Amino acid sequence: MECGHYSGMGAGRQLAWVLAVGKVGFSAIRKTCLALPGAQHFIKINAQITQCYPQNMLRRTKRGFSFMLNSRFALYCLPVTPTNFDFHCHSSVSDGLLSPSEVARRAAANGVDLWALTDHDDLGGLAVARAEAEEAGMGFVNGVEISIEWNKAPIHIVGLGFDATHPALVSGLDDLRQGRVERARRMGEALAAIGIPGVYEGALTYAANPSLISRAHFARYLVSIGIAKDVSGVFQHYLTPGKPGYVDHRWATLPDAVGWISAAGGVAVVAHPARYKLLSNGDMRRFLGDFKDLGGRAIEIVCGSHSPDHVLHYARLARHFAFHASRGSDFHGPEESYVDLGRLPQLPEDLKPVWRLIA
Ligand code: AMP
Ligand code: MN
Ligand code: MN
Ligand code: MN
Repeated sequence: MECGHYSGMGAGRQLAWVLAVGKVGFSAIRKTCLALPGAQHFIKINAQITQCYPQNMLRRTKRGFSFMLNSRFALYCLPVTPTNFDFHCHSSVSDGLLSPSEVARRAAANGVDLWALTDHDDLGGLAVARAEAEEAGMGFVNGVEISIEWNKAPIHIVGLGFDATHPALVSGLDDLRQGRVERARRMGEALAAIGIPGVYEGALTYAANPSLISRAHFARYLVSIGIAKDVSGVFQHYLTPGKPGYVDHRWATLPDAVGWISAAGGVAVVAHPARYKLLSNGDMRRFLGDFKDLGGRAIEIVCGSHSPDHVLHYARLARHFAFHASRGSDFHGPEESYVDLGRLPQLPEDLKPVWRLIA
C-alpha cells in the first residue's frame, strides 16, 4: 500500500491519498491513513474508487465489506508546514511517565526539530532536557504549564522561552507545589471517607517528584488497586468536580501566571482551550481578553486534545485577538496519550507560529 499527502492544498483541510492494490480490507486502509503524519485528526475516508474488481464489489464496499480494489482513497487532514515544533509535553518531573532525557530522545526520534518540555508547575527537568536536546541536534525552549484558576475554572497557562532562574517565577511555582501537597492530603482524606484508605501514600509511590503530586498519580494508584480499569475511568468516577476524590483548590491567578512568565522574559500561551468545559463561549472570549490585557500573546491551536473543529474555532479566535499560535502534543507517556510527540497536524498556514516570538 502506498500513501502520501497531496501538496499545495493551502490553509484549512488537506487531502492525503492511499493507493491500495489487491485484496485489502477497509480497516487496513484506515490504519494506513491514520499512520500518515498529520492524520491523527482523522475525519473520514472519502473513498474515490477509480477501478474495482470485480465490479459488483463496489456496491459491497459501500456497506463496509472488505473488498478487492485498485483505487485511490483520500482523507482530510490539516496542512503540512515545515517546522515540527512540539511545545507541550510532560516528564516524570510532573505527571509524565518518562524521564526528561527519555522524553527528549523520543521527541528527536519522532522528528521534532524544536521542542519545549512543559512540566506542570516545575522547572526541574529543563536543564537535563536542554542538554539531551542539544545532544540530539534538536532546538530547545524552556517551558512550564502553570495551574491557575479564573472565575473558579481551573485553567492551564503554558510559559515558553523564559529565564528559568527568575525569582518571581521560581518562588511562585514553589508556592504552587506546596499547595499541591496540601490538596493531595485532602484528596486522600476525601477518598478515605468513602472507604478507600491510604491513597495519598499510594499516589506518592507513583510520583517520581514527591513535591509535584498530581491527580494523575492518584489515578494510576487507584487503577493499580483495581478501583477502575483505566486512568480515564478513575477521573470520570472519582477525580473530577462533584466526584468523591475531587477537592476544591486555590491555584495561582491569571495575573500571577502571565506576570511571572513575562517578568522572566517568556511568552504566555493558553493551553488546550477546548478543554475548559466550565467556560461558555462568552466566558472564553472574556478570558482571552483578560489574558491579552495582562500581556498574554499566544494560544494553543493544534494540540493532543483538539479535534479539527476545535482547530478551526480557536484559529478564528487567534485571528480575532491577534494571538500567535502554538502546537503541542501534551504527551504524558506511551500508554496514556493519544498523540505522540511531534505527531500532530500542522498549524493553519495563515497563523503566526509562537516560536517566532522566542529568541
Ligand atoms: P492536576 O494538575 O493534579 O489537577 O491533574 C491534572 C492532570 O491530570 C492533567 O494534566 C492530566 O495529565 C490528567 N488528567 C486530567 N483529566 C484527565 C482525564 N479525564 N483523563 C486522564 N487524565 C486526566
Ligand atoms: Mn498532566
Ligand atoms: Mn493541561
Ligand atoms: Mn499538559
